[in-house]
Amino acid sequence: MLEVDALHARYGRAQILNGVSLDVGENEVVALLGRNGAGKSTTMKSVMGLVRQTDGNIRYDGQQIRGKPSHQICRTGIGYVPEERRIFGDLTVEENLEVGRRGAREDAPEWSLDHLFELFPNLAERRRNLGKQLSGGEQQMLTIARTLMGNPKLVLLDEPSEGIAPVIVEQMARVIAELKAEGLSVLLSEQNLHFARLVSDRAYIIEKGEMRWDGTFADL
Ligand code: ATP
Ligand code: MG
Repeated sequence: MLEVDALHARYGRAQILNGVSLDVGENEVVALLGRNGAGKSTTMKSVMGLVRQTDGNIRYDGQQIRGKPSHQICRTGIGYVPEERRIFGDLTVEENLEVGRRGAREDAPEWSLDHLFELFPNLAERRRNLGKQLSGGEQQMLTIARTLMGNPKLVLLDEPSEGIAPVIVEQMARVIAELKAEGLSVLLSEQNLHFARLVSDRAYIIEKGEMRWDGTFADL
C-alpha cells in the first residue's frame, strides 16, 4: 500500500536521505529502526509532504504522492503521529478527539468515540479532563487516538515509545496489535528494539540516510 523507492531528501544543502526504499503492505506492522539522526523522522515527514526538497517515488495505493501537499496526503488515508506530541492543553480529551475528525478521509465510516474509548480505556476514564492534566504517555495516547479519528488506513508513528513509562508502553503495544486486528497498517520508527520486536511483523534499519538492512526479527 505504501511504496517508497529511491527517496532522496535534503534540508537546504544538507543531504539527509540518500536513496531510501521501503514498503508497507496491507495490514502489516513494519518498524523503521535506526540511531539518533539516522533519518527516520525525515523519511516519515517526506511521506507526509513535509519536506520540501525530495526526489524519488512515494506511492500510496499505486498513486504517486510525492510533491502533494500534506493535507491532501492525510485525506488519502495516511495518519501521522509526529515525534513531538501535539495536544490542545486547554481542550478536554473529547474535544481533542473531535479536532481529529476535521482531517477525516471522506469515503469511509468514522471511528465512533465509544469505539475509540474501548481501545484507549485510560482516556475513557478521563474524557472530560483537560489535555494538560494528562501525563506525557497519556498525551501520546491522545495524539494517536486523535489521528485515528481521521480514519486512516495506514498510520505512521514516529517513536511512539519514546520517553514513556513502561506501563504505557505496554498499552501502546496492545493498541498497535488492535490496529492490526482492525485491518490497518502501521509504520513505526523506533529506537526501542524490544518494543519494535513485540509489535512488528518485520523491520528496516536505516543508517546515515541509507537503508542498511531489512528482514524479520528472527533474522536480526
Ligand atoms: P531521532 O531518533 O533522533 O529522532 P531520526 O532518525 O528521526 O533521529 P532525523 O530527524 O530524520 O533523524 O534527522 C536526520 C538528520 O537530519 C539529522 O542529522 C538532523 O540533524 C537533520 N535534520 C533534521 N531536521 C532538520 C531540519 N529541519 N533542518 C536541517 N537538518 C535537519
Ligand atoms: Mg526522529
